[in-house]
Amino acid sequence: MQKSKVNMLDIKSRIGKNKEISNLFTLKNQVIVENFFEAKTREDLINIKKYCLDNNLPLLIIGGGSNIAILKEKVNGIVVKNSYKELKIIEENDDEVIISVSSGYPVSLLIAKSLEAGWSGFEYHQGLPGTIGGAIYMNSKWTKPLTYFGDNLIYGYLLDNQAKIKKVSRDYFQFAYDYSILQKTKEILLEGIFKLKKEDKKIIKERALFALNYRKKTQPFGVATCGCFFKNPGNISAGYLIDKAGLKGFSVGDFYISDIHANFIINKGKGKKEDLLKLLSIIKTKVKEKFGVELEEEVIIINN
Ligand SMILES: Cc1cc2nc3c(=O)[nH]c(=O)nc-3n(C[C@H](O)[C@H](O)[C@H](O)COP(=O)(O)OP(=O)(O)OC[C@H]3O[C@@H](n4cnc5c(N)ncnc54)[C@H](O)[C@@H]3O)c2cc1C
Repeated sequence: MQKSKVNMLDIKSRIGKNKEISNLFTLKNQVIVENFFEAKTREDLINIKKYCLDNNLPLLIIGGGSNIAILKEKVNGIVVKNSYKELKIIEENDDEVIISVSSGYPVSLLIAKSLEAGWSGFEYHQGLPGTIGGAIYMNSKWTKPLTYFGDNLIYGYLLDNQAKIKKVSRDYFQFAYDYSILQKTKEILLEGIFKLKKEDKKIIKERALFALNYRKKTQPFGVATCGCFFKNPGNISAGYLIDKAGLKGFSVGDFYISDIHANFIINKGKGKKEDLLKLLSIIKTKVKEKFGVELEEEVIIINN
């Protein structure tokens, strides 16, 4: 048998049907998928994309599932959990290091490695959940000081919509607040190549600890959430507006607005999608009535 046919048979045999995958999302609401596949390697990602093209199936890739809210009974097509984990040093000298990090690599692990090795660039993201793929797709940020995940990217490898690999420079991503071009193109990040500075480990660790402590002081911990649900409209924080609209602690069913940070929506158990939709609508209406501001979700909503 030809190699590509063997690959496709292997891929097909690894697809799970009608699976319940709530545990793969930090919001922990009920999610059933028609087809589920876990990609463990670069080849897996390429082959599952080809499989989807051959079988005309939509593909949703998830990393840490920390910025997605699924608001439908069942997700059709294929959900691909990205577990492709690889970190390689490409080049280094006394001052800098260039690393290739696969898209399924956990951000927490990348930061732990950076702190250990004395690589500066990611330390302020200490405590950011998820994977490199999700963080580049979102251009995830930290505000004290303002740093974006894409800041240190120099180029990346993508899988385009025809399952072809392409190498693109940082400019291609058009990074902005909560934005990268991947949100439009729907291409899949395979690896990101980052340039990091070598610095005193003690100083890098202090910065990471500072960020983590600030996070712990201002955000709820150990709860089922997607973090900040809405984008900050301009220079004002969405959490401040929700708080001042009197909504801290407000709940619909099992979903409630955190008392600690008003932009955090928490699922206290069996949150239903109808309840979340209702809560989102109440938040938007109240904030619009009080401040004339239209809030826009930061969290990726899957509802069609
Ligand atoms: C407690 C908590 C704290 C948080 N703090 C922050 C914070 O400080 N700053 C911040 O910006 N965000 C924060 N978030 C939100 C979230 O963690 C980030 O957006 C994170 O970077 C998402 O990564 P992920 O792997 O979980 O992405 P996922 O939620 O799995 O996916 C997000 C989007 O990226 C796409 N995607 C994932 N992988 C790829 C890939 N390889 N190629 C192309 N597209 C891909 C998905 O299809 C989806 O559309 C927080 C969330 C939680 C729960």
